[in-house]
Amino acid sequence: TSSRRPLMAGNWKMNLNHFEANLLVQKLAAGLTEKQLTDVETVVLPPFTDIRTVQTAVDGDKLLIGYGAQDISAHKSGAYTGEISGAMLAKLGCTYVVVGHSERREYHNESDGLVNAKAKAALANELTPILCIGEGLDVREAGGHIAHCADQLEAGLSGFAAAEVEKIVIAYEPVWAIGTGKTATPEDAQEVCGDIRARLAKKYGQETAERVRVLYGGSVKGNNVAQIMAQPDVDGALVGGASIDAEQFVQIVRFPE
Ligand code: PEP
Repeated sequence: TSSRRPLMAGNWKMNLNHFEANLLVQKLAAGLTEKQLTDVETVVLPPFTDIRTVQTAVDGDKLLIGYGAQDISAHKSGAYTGEISGAMLAKLGCTYVVVGHSERREYHNESDGLVNAKAKAALANELTPILCIGEGLDVREAGGHIAHCADQLEAGLSGFAAAEVEKIVIAYEPVWAIGTGKTATPEDAQEVCGDIRARLAKKYGQETAERVRVLYGGSVKGNNVAQIMAQPDVDGALVGGASIDAEQFVQIVRFPE
């Protein structure tokens, strides 16, 4: 029912050195046809230290595989030891960047304000931010997941006009489903992804809401991706663990078959 192109994004997290990164990209390229990569947009999100290697592999073979980073500095340049700027990522050919992943919110105390600033930094460098939102188990059990995600969405998109919102990908990642093997049911995923789109429609207009891709993330594997993708408001997946396993990620990209 939707004209949105499905997007499968692999968040490698802190895994794989540059040598292993090259091997994984080669395996993905070997396991996927041009048609499969055209039908389903496929993106890898390696650690910073692998990006140059991934660029070489992708450019060298003219692969239809996109790549990006897992984080970005909110600042342009300067005295920010250890940070990586959007301009640096863009220069390496990145087209995507994750902002607000729950692991960064939790372990690095990233606030909604910082996540919003990072999304702005991404857009300023023509990188597509993948804005992650999602509730923890306590919030889910108390029935507050919709309100929690709505708050994170609103804060993450603060100050953006409809034209900017259209350039953003939203990822609904319930924290209790990340890396736990507990996948949200397709209905749970649809409930929140549908609510995200309804809120976008209300605030930015129906057309904008129809254009934005909303991903689900949380223990997506080759054997559960199709049911999740069958939901009307789920346009793709942000995949962690299964994205560093070539066979799994290939199976995920091949979900329509
Ligand atoms: C993630 O890190 O965004 C994620 C969804 O991880 P996993 O697939 O391992 O649950």
